[in-house]
Amino acid sequence: MIPAKLIEKKRDGFELNAKEIAWFVEGTVENKIDDCQLSALLMAIYFNGMSDLETFSLVESMVNSGKRFKFNSPGNYIADKHSTGGIGDKISFILAPILSSLGIIIPMIAGRGLAYTGGTIDKLESIPNFQTSINGKDFESQIQNIGYGIISQSSEICPADKKIYSIRDLTGTIPSMPLICSSIMSKKIAEGLDGLIMDIKVGNGAFMKTISEAKILAAELKKIGSAFKIKTDITFSNMSQPLGRYAGLRCEIIESINCLNGDGPNDLIELSLELGSKILLQSKKADNKNEAKKKMLETIKNGTALKKFEELIVAQGGNFEQLQMSGSRIKNELYICSDRDGYISSIDTEKIGWALVEMGCGRRRDKDLLDYTAGIKFNVKIGETVKKGEKVYTLFGENIKKLENAKLMLHKTFKVSSETILKSKLILC
Ligand code: URA
Repeated sequence: MIPAKLIEKKRDGFELNAKEIAWFVEGTVENKIDDCQLSALLMAIYFNGMSDLETFSLVESMVNSGKRFKFNSPGNYIADKHSTGGIGDKISFILAPILSSLGIIIPMIAGRGLAYTGGTIDKLESIPNFQTSINGKDFESQIQNIGYGIISQSSEICPADKKIYSIRDLTGTIPSMPLICSSIMSKKIAEGLDGLIMDIKVGNGAFMKTISEAKILAAELKKIGSAFKIKTDITFSNMSQPLGRYAGLRCEIIESINCLNGDGPNDLIELSLELGSKILLQSKKADNKNEAKKKMLETIKNGTALKKFEELIVAQGGNFEQLQMSGSRIKNELYICSDRDGYISSIDTEKIGWALVEMGCGRRRDKDLLDYTAGIKFNVKIGETVKKGEKVYTLFGENIKKLENAKLMLHKTFKVSSETILKSKLILC
């Protein structure tokens, strides 16, 4: 087959068959397809979409590109949570240890930052010495020993997603239903899951800007889940403002630890409990939502969830003490203040995401270095009051020039109303 011919076929609106898709995906993994050819095919998919049959073939080929884990041992429920991406979304670091301490096995394969959204793997790598690229055998032992792990795609584990994901990040081809579905579900199928809870973000900081788009994506994800025998539940959550009080890399790990210490913002706890309760119901570890949420809160109160997170850090080579020390070393701070009294009425969340990329929390090009020390604190959020001259955002990090650039990008990214504004609903449905 000739790559350019398949690209032309997709570009001109025709369907690719299963063999053609498998050939292209194999070629991608074996470096027989050039990056420019992969980019072109992704752009053709972005514009023309894919039929159900094409999407299934893409998922299958991506799953077949790497290892497929089988962790089944009697009585164990293997599950995961995955989000479609947002700003300040650190739920994995809170929820995985909570569920793990309740006996759920969580073999999470996650990704780096995509476009303006933060990446689980980039955030974990901000922990001194933390290893995210672990071979299949060692990952299996870790799951056997401590019951959970969070790793990245690699040449052995979801290699097709590793390559396609990184090219999508740089080529404006992320918000495509078949590409999102195949990226997420190929990782989740490779994990060998019994159950999955999908957190589909909706709003001005999400890839799905409207609930109707999000519902179409949900139906696709559920279809693929059921074809691969993964019980898939969906939650739609609000991404029209950042989640929690911090967005960045290391600052999000620290905020998660605070949460596991019982000192986290309400939205992080509310969403974690909502998502986690669906897994506990699926696994029959709870009979109803209230019981599930109670059990989860107990793991925070009695410290077992935090211990589990420490266990994960140590198992993957990270240094917990150094992490805690590094959290207090902030070099530069800049502020964006309100020019009037009132209530925060809206926040342009995508622009905040791009400012974070500028600060070094994401990549514009493949070789961009990340700045683990950088981040933004959101001192006030939608529905909260602010006074003239008060700080709305605090920008911090090592590179003052980047902070200054980001500050310029952040002007006019929030509105202040003199009318009372209600707090936004977090769980949409
Ligand atoms: N998460 C993924 O793993 N892939 C996407 O395409 C979007 C979110």
